[in-house]
Amino acid sequence: MTTLAIDIGGTKLAAALVDEALNLHQRRELPTPASKTADALQTALQTLVAPLVSAAQRVAIASTGIIRDGALRAINPHNLGGLLHFPLTETVATITGLPTMAVNDAQAAAWAEYHALQRVYRDMVFLTVSTGVGGGVVSNGRLLTGTGGLAGHLGHTLADPNGPMCGCGRRGCVEAIASGRGIAAAAEGELAGYDAKTIFNRAGLGNAQAIRLIHRSASTLAKLIADVKATTDCQCVVIGGSVGLADGYLALVENDLAQEPAAYRVPLLAAHYRHDAGLLGAVLLAQEKKI
Ligand SMILES: [Zn+2]
Repeated sequence: MTTLAIDIGGTKLAAALVDEALNLHQRRELPTPASKTADALQTALQTLVAPLVSAAQRVAIASTGIIRDGALRAINPHNLGGLLHFPLTETVATITGLPTMAVNDAQAAAWAEYHALQRVYRDMVFLTVSTGVGGGVVSNGRLLTGTGGLAGHLGHTLADPNGPMCGCGRRGCVEAIASGRGIAAAAEGELAGYDAKTIFNRAGLGNAQAIRLIHRSASTLAKLIADVKATTDCQCVVIGGSVGLADGYLALVENDLAQEPAAYRVPLLAAHYRHDAGLLGAVLLAQEKKI
């Protein structure tokens, strides 16, 4: 059976056909509509899937935001702000005429990464650090989604009660400090206005402020990981995302985590799937649910 996989992110939409062996074909991308309204998203999804839909038998969606009963609710107004409640599976099922399921993108990615570990571990946590900070928890071989879809939103746990406001409306979330957006927002003087990628480049050239900003992100993530270990007793934490996989970042996090008491340390692994973890995780879930 061929699955049409869709990934809905804050900046781009991706789709591909995925076969039973998890090979991706005809991957395509579009920018997420700038207006972030339900109509604009529906139109963009139609354009995205039009060349693919005739070859698929079902649809699996990984999306940013909270997925509850097939509907999408944005947690961060900067990501999909116009979408307080978007009937995601219903809309895509109507567009495609195919059975459709949806899951949060970081939860989907966690499931793909869990499978990549070949069941060596039963308890693992996935953290993605990119524009935002997302997460997914696998406990005793099961992906936790929660009754309301919120499980694993670890980027919105507290890092600093006096920290910057987070896009979710809470002050001092991990995401507000450790994410690419958080790194860029804290830049001052010569680095003000630059994005995280440029700040990483400057750190590589020895810029002291850039190095400090990246260390702050890594130490915030290390504290989150210690909290996650205390909460879930996970056997490993897999790190993904453009910041998480940036050169040298994982080593910084490992170094900070090594300063924590031994009970809160846990092996860290770099994500196996890079940009396709969300797509593949959604397909794996669709295969298992036999939709
Ligand atoms: Zn938050």
